[in-house]
Amino acid sequence: MFSQSMVDLGQKRSTIREIFEYGKRRAAEVGAENIFDFSIGNPSVPAPDSVHQAILRVLEEEGPVGTHGYTSAQGDAIVRTRIAESLNRRFGTAFHADNFYMTVGAAAALSACFRALAEPGDEFVVAAPFFPEYRCFVESGAGAKLVVVDADIEQFQINFEKLEAALNPHTKAMIINSPNNPSGTIYSEATIQKLAALLTRKSAEYGHPIFLISDEPYRELIYDGLEIPFVTKYYPNTFVCYSYSKSLSLPGERIGYILVPDEMTDAKLAYAAICGAGRTLGYVNAPSLFQRVASYCTDETADTSIYEKNRNLLYEGLIRLGFTCVKPQGAFYIFPRSLEPDAVAFCERAKKYDLLLVPGDDFGCPGHVRISYCVPTERIERALKVFEQLAAEYR
Ligand code: PLP
Repeated sequence: MFSQSMVDLGQKRSTIREIFEYGKRRAAEVGAENIFDFSIGNPSVPAPDSVHQAILRVLEEEGPVGTHGYTSAQGDAIVRTRIAESLNRRFGTAFHADNFYMTVGAAAALSACFRALAEPGDEFVVAAPFFPEYRCFVESGAGAKLVVVDADIEQFQINFEKLEAALNPHTKAMIINSPNNPSGTIYSEATIQKLAALLTRKSAEYGHPIFLISDEPYRELIYDGLEIPFVTKYYPNTFVCYSYSKSLSLPGERIGYILVPDEMTDAKLAYAAICGAGRTLGYVNAPSLFQRVASYCTDETADTSIYEKNRNLLYEGLIRLGFTCVKPQGAFYIFPRSLEPDAVAFCERAKKYDLLLVPGDDFGCPGHVRISYCVPTERIERALKVFEQLAAEYR
């Protein structure tokens, strides 16, 4: 009577959500301050003041009818112009309004890209570790196949030998996510250049483009003064999926965009396919108030120095306790190796201390655990004592 695949998806929550819900139940029993919930990537830093000011400004400028009305399906033209201007200022690009399609966060941006591209038999390739929802969006949403390339666990860059072996004439696109959830790694310029060269060579060999889908909700969450290469400059067949969920701490407001550069092969058709995919998703248009709010805050971010402080504290603490882990350069996750080969068993053991971690298995990288450090700093300070007790069990 019902679509079995949808029933299955609805009944089995993601592991992250499962642990998050468990944390809420435990918090009700023992008090939220006694739970070390590192399960979910919900920003812990407030949205910048400019967001509040922008909400008031939009209400004043547009009035109640304009503020809350439908916009064009692809988003308000002035909003898209402001976003283009901001990227051009910051990255030396030459985008314009018609390169952008406003979406209901990065999740909808990704879903629209997969649907816009997928034809029967198509494959989308991703290097582990990767955001587990890609599987749901690619396979259940777009009817295509997700192909996972094993992680380079030394650096969490890309294992190019394994990637090349995974590419084939059915490969429609590769998904990249930098800064990465769950590893916090940023793909270096050398990695992006090497990737662009490989995809260019393989596109020529197969006689059709292999697109890149660059998932960038953490683009502004970068530390140590690093700069991030803007991917369309290296590989024009790139769809950029962006979101203000993390950079402006607005995950519940559901606002983001897809960027389709003019230089993409058949760019106009690609944009039309995105608009068509947007129709099938049924969102009609991205939230109207927050399109305008985001467009007034394009050069702003929440206070990311708090995440950097948390990163330092946690990374140094874990290394001191004997964990093996790559130092994250961005986002708000750290992805150490678990202290036993079975990360699920390790996370179960951590649970006894009300320490909630997510096993790396769903991220395509067993033997690791994801720790989301978008929590109050004092929580990390106290949690390190608990990590110490947990680590002592393995000595
Ligand atoms: N992509 C990655 C890598 C994420 O971590 C997330 C959310 O955590 C998303 C996409 C979805 O973001 P949004 O809230 O903008 O839909």
